[in-house]
Amino acid sequence: MPDAYDVDGVINQEKRFSVAKQRYRDPEAVEKMNPFAEQEAWEEHQIGKATLTFGSKNRKKAAEDYDYVFEDQIDFVKVSVMDGIDEEPNEAEEAKTISKGLQEERKTLPIYPYRDELLQAVKDHQVIIIVGETGSGKTTQIPQYLHEAGYTKQGMVACTQPRRVAAMSVAARVSQEMGVKLGHEVGYSIRFEDCTSEKTLIKYMTDGMLLREFLGEPDLASYSVVMVDEAHERTLSTDILFGLVKDIARFRKDLKLLISSATLDAEKFSDYFDSAPIFKIPGRRFPVEIHYTKAPEADYIDAAIVTVLQIHVTQSPGDILVFLTGQEEIETVDEILKHRTRGLGTKIAELIICPIYANLPTELQAKIFEPTPEGARKVVLATNIAETSLTIDGIKYVVDPGFCKIKSYNPRTGMESLLINPISKASANQRAGRSGRTGPGKCFRLYTAYNYYNDLEDNTVPEIQRTNLANVVLTLKSLGIHDLVNFDFMDPPPSEALLRALEQLFALNALNVKGELTKTGRRMAEFPLDPMLSKMIVASEKYKCSDEIISIASMLSVGNSIFYRPKDKQVHADNARMNFNTGNVGDHIALLNVYNSWKETDFSTQWCYENYIQVRSMKRARDIRDQLEGLLERVEIEISTNLNDLDTIKKAITSGFFHHAAKLQKNGSYRTLKNPQTVYIHPSSGLAQVHPRWVVYHELVLTTKEYMRQVTELKPDWLVEIAPHYYQLKD
Ligand code: ADP
Ligand code: MG
Repeated sequence: MPDAYDVDGVINQEKRFSVAKQRYRDPEAVEKMNPFAEQEAWEEHQIGKATLTFGSKNRKKAAEDYDYVFEDQIDFVKVSVMDGIDEEPNEAEEAKTISKGLQEERKTLPIYPYRDELLQAVKDHQVIIIVGETGSGKTTQIPQYLHEAGYTKQGMVACTQPRRVAAMSVAARVSQEMGVKLGHEVGYSIRFEDCTSEKTLIKYMTDGMLLREFLGEPDLASYSVVMVDEAHERTLSTDILFGLVKDIARFRKDLKLLISSATLDAEKFSDYFDSAPIFKIPGRRFPVEIHYTKAPEADYIDAAIVTVLQIHVTQSPGDILVFLTGQEEIETVDEILKHRTRGLGTKIAELIICPIYANLPTELQAKIFEPTPEGARKVVLATNIAETSLTIDGIKYVVDPGFCKIKSYNPRTGMESLLINPISKASANQRAGRSGRTGPGKCFRLYTAYNYYNDLEDNTVPEIQRTNLANVVLTLKSLGIHDLVNFDFMDPPPSEALLRALEQLFALNALNVKGELTKTGRRMAEFPLDPMLSKMIVASEKYKCSDEIISIASMLSVGNSIFYRPKDKQVHADNARMNFNTGNVGDHIALLNVYNSWKETDFSTQWCYENYIQVRSMKRARDIRDQLEGLLERVEIEISTNLNDLDTIKKAITSGFFHHAAKLQKNGSYRTLKNPQTVYIHPSSGLAQVHPRWVVYHELVLTTKEYMRQVTELKPDWLVEIAPHYYQLKD
């Protein structure tokens, strides 16, 4: 490590914390340094109110703090070096930088020398497992090789990705390499967005989309090859795909199956696919120095920022990749980094900040791949997507706080939450490896070596073992697979979770007592949504409010990015938001009001600005809505509107979400009705101050407390009317 780090650790550490403490007094900074910043700020603002002053005195303090920035350091210890796989001087990589075109560049990838051997293997075997280091060219090259070898004459080549950004980005890259327009010969398909055409030969898609395609085409007749990529991620959809593709391969002898993975535990895949041969692509990776913090970091967001700046001013040229858990964190770090480097002019080299996460608009996604200009340094702020799905060239430093967002599900209570959790050792090593692609790299872990060795699990638990299975069970049932217990799972889900899913679908009237799909269930399965949402839509037929309900479903599907709350205009933004909740109609109807008002202004962007609404999210909601409207037609539900009677709309919502009912307690908290648990109305809700006696909610989020997000008042007799088999009157 350079001298800059070798100052006395204790003094340095003390200084660091004293600075941090000062900054904590600045409310804006408190907000910025916390993974739950946004929610907590809300919570703080709404509940505590006025305990914090936002006066100019505080701001001045914050400004003074920023002067310390470059003294504010973290002590790292270098503990280990991850050996390179190939330490030979890399001519291929050099050739790449001087290459003339993309075709030349393709030939520099590690996979290229194995092209013919790979094609021969595909010819000789129906199923092969492919293993290769991230960046070797599996995702972008193999489908092209197959196309060049003529496989696309008999059908499309499908390549599945666990993440939609990866599907989009890789498709864009491959269309460029092939010199065709995206959506023509090379396309992608993700939920609510189909960018393919009659011409499409190579189709990148999310694993969830291929799963849905089974519903329309159970033998996947349009495909000649299915490549299940990123198999090591073991997403729920990938795991289910394994069982389905293995099954169809038995009767479709012409179908080729490739299972590709970035990790070396390919034996398990091979065993599962009847001892399929494993094709290893020798990787190319330089040694990576692993640095750990000397002491645990209290705030990894702050630590990540400090580390980035530390690398920027002390380390040789090379780009930085920072792993964060989600969009809010990325935006926070982006903002603070900009703030801290602003005004430093020529004192430091230019730092180009590139965020990448699922909801980032496509135009901006491409930015991470642009070469860094001479003299500048790029810092990529990414979610887990950069772990193995996307390879960004030129990364030399990795900053790894050691966390990711992970879905967890408690089958006993039926509660599902997104939580920020420590990553596994396997993930940590993948992350570190990203820094050694084009030369020796360094990885800065924002946790101690002790943490790494003693606290991190070896591998991430497959999603199938920690999620609500209702959606998958509904899909499998629609495919005619009834015997779920004996389904060929690579790792079976907990039987309790399967049972829960069956119960839930039964309660939603999607399955009958024998566990068979009902007409309602068949209709629900047409919608690419969670069963509760699709039930709400199907129920809207009865209540003659399908028009309103699909607007609400689309708005809910966009997620929590409808309302915009700029720091300096929070009161305005909150007032604007409250206007949609006039009469305390609840959050679902408020979302409907937003959509309808926007529609009345002929989808005006100006209107969005004036009302602190994110226009991009609204456009997405409109797209989703269009598709849901098409699906309504398919299941023969007429579009009808019933805006004059809000209760009918609320009843339709309750028909889908009666599992999510809660009753007010004396102390202002709520108890969920089945499997009682204490929950609270999220402060961002229009009903947060109203406290209706009974509510139905869309989802639970755990931040400082278990919060219900998107809440609507309900009348208890609706529960008995709508779900008599689930709720009975007590007295
Ligand atoms: P693997 O699937 O084995 O991890 P990829 O096929 O994704 O490897 O990547 C091969 C190469 O293609 C990498 O050098 C990567 O930087 C480049 N690449 C992939 N996607 C893009 C993109 N959207 N823009 C520019 N380069 C890309
Ligand atoms: Mg890949």
